[in-house]
This record gives sequence, structure tokens and C-alpha cells, in this order.
Amino acid sequence: MPLRDVEGQGRAIEALLRALRGGRLHHAYLFAGPDGVGKGLTAWATAQALLCTQPRDDGDACAACAACLRVAERQHPDLHVVERLEKSGGGLERSIKIDQVRALQRALSFKSFEGARRVVLILEPESMNPSTANALLKTLEEPGPGTHFVLVCASPQLLLPTILSRCQRVQFAPLTRELVQRHLAAQAGLDADAAALLAGLAEGSIGKGLVLVKSDVLAQREALIARVDDPEGLRHVPALLDLAEQLAKAKDDLPLVFHLLRTWYRDLLLVQNGLPIEALVHRDLAANLQQRATQLRPQDVMARIDLINETEDALARMANTRLSLETMLLRLVGAAPRRLSA
Ligand SMILES: [Zn+2]
Repeated sequence: MPLRDVEGQGRAIEALLRALRGGRLHHAYLFAGPDGVGKGLTAWATAQALLCTQPRDDGDACAACAACLRVAERQHPDLHVVERLEKSGGGLERSIKIDQVRALQRALSFKSFEGARRVVLILEPESMNPSTANALLKTLEEPGPGTHFVLVCASPQLLLPTILSRCQRVQFAPLTRELVQRHLAAQAGLDADAAALLAGLAEGSIGKGLVLVKSDVLAQREALIARVDDPEGLRHVPALLDLAEQLAKAKDDLPLVFHLLRTWYRDLLLVQNGLPIEALVHRDLAANLQQRATQLRPQDVMARIDLINETEDALARMANTRLSLETMLLRLVGAAPRRLSA
């Protein structure tokens, strides 16, 4: 896929095309931004543009020459990809290994095969341990003529400062909800309502949306919200204690549970401030939101959002999961100290 076909990242793409047109490409780029917004696609497209033998006037790849096709098939001899390897038992290794970086260094010590340029894509460089990162740093410092690096990274704060300082950063923004919705509908075969809900929860990431498609938590969304945000929530206390126990055992689901609750209360605030239904994540439950918005004061809604955030932070600091969840759920329905009204 050439750069012109990458959707939703106009600023990043235009900056890269400008550099390609002017022949002023930096020797190392860091593509930074959330997962699932097009950093990887753009990295492959940049490799194609660099290795294309018949580039267009705008600097982009032709997407038709032999070099372009070989990049698309990962078969180009001057394209080196360093990424977490597959484990023999399935799944990926936790990190890029130092042997992979050494193999790259050996490959780069030879002349390029086809032309003046070589491209190295490093996916998830933040997974490297410090000694591997230091080995990579040597290569970044002495890249050799015509060698271009693209580091694709969702968490640049985890990279060594010495690596960061050698890269030109290109920031990738979250995608618009409309774009995510369109891709989810097409890629996962969802109807418009389901795609709209998931796009609202996906925080601008097609990748995150595709993970959500497979989640069971979403099917329980209405039941979860009905229990947790009920003016007569005290009657649910036994059920909420059961829920805390279940959730404590299914830790992988917790980020989505927090996210569902947080977006629910954020929607309530939006309704209270008169924003249109289209702005809501849970727009399919707009009638419930509108009714609830008349029952809670905005400061009570904000206190609930704070409570959800505080609980999530506490769990990140290894607090007792079940106890923290019980406390949060009981406080949300007003059945525990630091009572929230209604
Ligand atoms: Zn080409």
C-alpha cells in the first residue's frame, strides 16, 4: 500500500512525502502513536517509497514496479524487518532479542543488493531490553550511506533517551470515530449500530476496535450498566459482590469494564451539557442516559468518574483486585462510605 492510500493520518503522510520529494529524508524516523492507527502501514509504505525504482513526482511509490511488489511481499533484499519472533508453541516472544540485532548488523555490513538504499523497519522497539537497545544504538549511530530506519512504537517513553534523540519523531493521532466505524463495519461485518458503539469505545484505533469485536464483555454491557448505575442500586448489592468476584478472576476484561463505565458517565455529562446524541459512545442507550441525566447532579457524575479512575490506578499499583472492585461497585450504588448521592 503506498502512502497516498493510508487513511486518517494526513499530516504525517504529507510530512513524509515532502521529505521524500525533496530528498531530505532523515536517516531514522520514530513513528509514535497509539496501536491500530496506521503506523505500521505507513512504515511499509515509506519502505516502498524509498525502494521504488519509478517513484511518482509527489515522492510516493508507484506501487507497480518489481521493487514495490517485492516490498509488499516482504521479499525485497534491501528491506530488513526486526520484530518480535513467533514462539514455537504459538504467540510472540516478549521482546526483540539481541541476536536479531546482531544479525541485522551483519546484514548491514554488506553492500546493498539492488541500489543505493536500504530500509530497516523495527517494530515495537520498546520491547527490547537495555543491552539489546544499546546494540541497536550502535547501528543507529553509524547507519552507513543510504540506510534508513523506521521505528514503529506505541510507547516511546519506554525507549532509551539515546535512541529517541537519534530519531526524527512523526506523531500519529487517533483516528476519527467515523473512519474507525467504517473500517469496523467493513472488516468485521458489523451493522451500523454495532460499528458505531465499538468505534466510540475504540478510542480512535481500528486495532482496538477489532479486539473489542471479539470481547464477551460488550454483550454484558447493558446488564453491567443497569446494575451499577441504578438509583435503587442497593438492591443489587449481593449481585455486585458476585460481579466483583467474577471480574477479579477475569483480569483481561478489566480495562474494558473500566472503559465502559467511564464512557457511560462521560456520556451522562455530555447529555447534561446538551450535546447531541451523535456525540455519545452509548448512543443506542440514549433514552436511559437522558433519564439518568435528570437524576444525578453533574458533580455526582464527576465523582463517579474519579472513583473509577482511582480504582483503575490503584489496581495498576497492585492493590487487592477483588477488594478494590467491591469498594468501587458499592460506592457507585451508594452502599459504602464516602456516599455518592442518588
Ligand atoms: Zn515502484
